[in-house]
Amino acid sequence: MADSSTVGNSPCTSKDTRKAWSGRVIHNDGAREMNTLAVPGFVVELRKYGTFDANACLNCGSCTVVCNLSDGQASFPRRPLQLALLGLKEPLLAGLEPWLCYDCGECSLTCPRQAEPRESMMTLRRYLSAAYDVTRISSKILTSKIWEIASLVFVGLLVFGLAFFYHLYFVELSVSDLISTPMGLEHMFNIIIYFTYAVFAIPVLILILKAVRMQRLTMRNAGARAPIRLYLIEAKTFLLHLMSQKRMRECVEPIQKKRWAKHWLMVLAFAAKSFIVIFFLKWFQTDSIYPLWNPQRWVGYLIAAILIFFPSEIIVSRARIRQAMHKFSELSDLTLPVMLLLTAVSGIVVHVSRYLEFSMACHYAYAVHVGVATSLVLVELPFGKLSHVMLRPFALYLQAVKERALGEAKIPVERKSSEQLILKGTQPV
Ligand code: SF4
Ligand code: SF4
Repeated sequence: MADSSTVGNSPCTSKDTRKAWSGRVIHNDGAREMNTLAVPGFVVELRKYGTFDANACLNCGSCTVVCNLSDGQASFPRRPLQLALLGLKEPLLAGLEPWLCYDCGECSLTCPRQAEPRESMMTLRRYLSAAYDVTRISSKILTSKIWEIASLVFVGLLVFGLAFFYHLYFVELSVSDLISTPMGLEHMFNIIIYFTYAVFAIPVLILILKAVRMQRLTMRNAGARAPIRLYLIEAKTFLLHLMSQKRMRECVEPIQKKRWAKHWLMVLAFAAKSFIVIFFLKWFQTDSIYPLWNPQRWVGYLIAAILIFFPSEIIVSRARIRQAMHKFSELSDLTLPVMLLLTAVSGIVVHVSRYLEFSMACHYAYAVHVGVATSLVLVELPFGKLSHVMLRPFALYLQAVKERALGEAKIPVERKSSEQLILKGTQPV
């Protein structure tokens, strides 16, 4: 039973605050103070999401000093790693730092203890992405290989099942006719347009819910209340980073510029393909053969080339561990490029078989293409690594709002030089 001295408006609470049963202080304006009690076994929980070396870190701060992206209020990777190691779950959830890291690996190269801070930051991002998810599906998918593969296969099979059901009960075909009759792409248009809207609406809704939870967790203890005006002013920051992913270019290593170009082209190709199938499906997926100079042809070829070349290169690089950053690969690092590649290849097979008038091949290739593309959009976009494409720009946006709010409240922003103090022996978290 709750202790009456700590609940509600008991005489033991001050005029401005009260304590909830958990011991957390709640102000009368609704703001809650953070729970800074350590959570036992938190590192064990984190390790389910990937590499996290609890024992190696000396808390020396060298990683934060070399990180080109760590500055101002956002001091990382040392700070979030220490919060995690100490089991300080709520302060970790209240931070945006893991999302501001763009994975260059400079910190891991510098770490004197080979504690792999880059990998640990990646693990923290996976953990946070799951923590923001009200459906809890992200947690299952990001911590279990069986769950991830089974989800992709289940969605693909569900699409086949729905197509089967549609033809048997609405088109009134027999099973033997459905299996042996080549059907053009256009015969399902009436239903597939609504199907496409639903397939994209689900991940968009889940990503919005994740973003709302990220905002609630990270902004309520921002140090200064951010008025709506600041959210509106900084909306441009979200759009800029969503469209350009430009922060990746700010990492020092020249190889990061190439990595940014590759990353940006893949995001652009995926976004363009999604835009076209949502708004121009009838123009893009048609049985008519357009002339070569028609944008339908070359836009399609360009998207397919990007989504075949770069994901293949990522898969080969990770398999051969060509770069230090590929030393540790989780399944989710591979499922995304594999699904992008399969979507593009199956789309090309549909196009070629239609061009060569192989009707039955086109019929089956289209079914496979829709199944694979639906799995990519319904599993990888809201729950897998593809969700980071939206969560990172949103975190940068919230960080910009937070810094503006602190600036307006005239609360000094912590400078990176504080990390130099850590190196001299003072080691506050
Ligand atoms: S460089 Fe960073 S991760 Fe490595 S020991 Fe120092 S504080 Fe820990
Ligand atoms: S991986 Fe790069 S961006 Fe991320 S914390 Fe390390 S140095 Fe900074």
